[in-house]
Amino acid sequence: MSSNKKILITGESGFIGSHLINFFVSKYPSYEIHGLDSLTYASNRDYNKRIENYKNYFFHKIDIRNREDITGLFSQHTFTDVIHLAAESHVDNSINNPLLFAQTNIIGTLHLLNAFKEFSNGRFHHISTDEVYGDLNIGDQPFHEKSSYKPSSPYSASKASADHFVRSYHRTYGLNILVTNCSNNYGPHQHHEKFIPTIIRSILQDQKIPIYGSGSNIRDWLYVMDHVQALDLIFHKGRIGETYNIGAENEVSNIELVDLICDICLDKKIHQDPKKLITFTPDRLGHDKRYAINYDKLKNELKWSPAYNFQDSLSKTIDWYVDNKK
Ligand code: NAD
Repeated sequence: MSSNKKILITGESGFIGSHLINFFVSKYPSYEIHGLDSLTYASNRDYNKRIENYKNYFFHKIDIRNREDITGLFSQHTFTDVIHLAAESHVDNSINNPLLFAQTNIIGTLHLLNAFKEFSNGRFHHISTDEVYGDLNIGDQPFHEKSSYKPSSPYSASKASADHFVRSYHRTYGLNILVTNCSNNYGPHQHHEKFIPTIIRSILQDQKIPIYGSGSNIRDWLYVMDHVQALDLIFHKGRIGETYNIGAENEVSNIELVDLICDICLDKKIHQDPKKLITFTPDRLGHDKRYAINYDKLKNELKWSPAYNFQDSLSKTIDWYVDNKK
């Protein structure tokens, strides 16, 4: 790949986007890296202040739902490549406002694809979720790249639709696309509405830790920096038109996860009896039972494997929330 790339990273002020853009801007000084974000409630530019003085970094406050703004941006900058993370990402919000999820996650993606088709000739790397595959029962084989799509929530339905559009632009117009579907991310600087930050915040504030249903739902956790390193590899070396799953084989039930975080907080003397805060709440509508992801394709083809240990990274994540309480 040439070194004079001009990459647009959308959703750069969100949780994963901010980790990714920091990594790219410092690792690839010869690339011109443009971040785009409309700065919704889910954004936080604190992490990106670190790269504001880098000469290869530019920021655009633009909403991907606005076709004219997207076309204008592409005509002005002729990006070579796009890494697309901008999305409405919270399942609970999608249950209350599915239309917004369709507008951002589907229509916004289409505006980017159309602008890319007109002005760019590099790679369009679309970031998606394993939730497009639906859920699993205990004992089922983990999802792989050929698993059929069966989204349960308006969020996963909107991401599934976007994935289909991205692939159709490869087949129909020959765009150089890549799709990655990853499991649940965790790490520093995630929005407080998500599950792990909610657990940690509740303990720090001595408030109830809310757990949906009986807490038996299983999630497969991926440390955000493992995700970033996998994206870097796939963006540069992945085969055009292909889909890669990204996971880390950290399957735990929600109640096991809460117990683990409580134990770490107890060890760190953050709280004297965190488990007494556990409270069960009515289950989420359509709540997926179990996610588990098979990423053999990424392991075998691109020789990637996760580098971060689950318990240590969880401990580091807790430290970050303690240090950044406000
Ligand atoms: P996030 O909610 O933290 O960040 C999303 C960013 O997109 C925010 O900064 C927000 O301001 C921006 N955005 C939202 N609507 C926009 C719009 N209309 N125009 C421009 N920007 C807009 O999400 P995240 O956790 O960083 O996830 C990033 C991507 O990864 C998403 O596409 C998500 O579906 C996918 N993903 C996330 C996870 C996870 O566990 N976090 C797992 C699988 C896939």
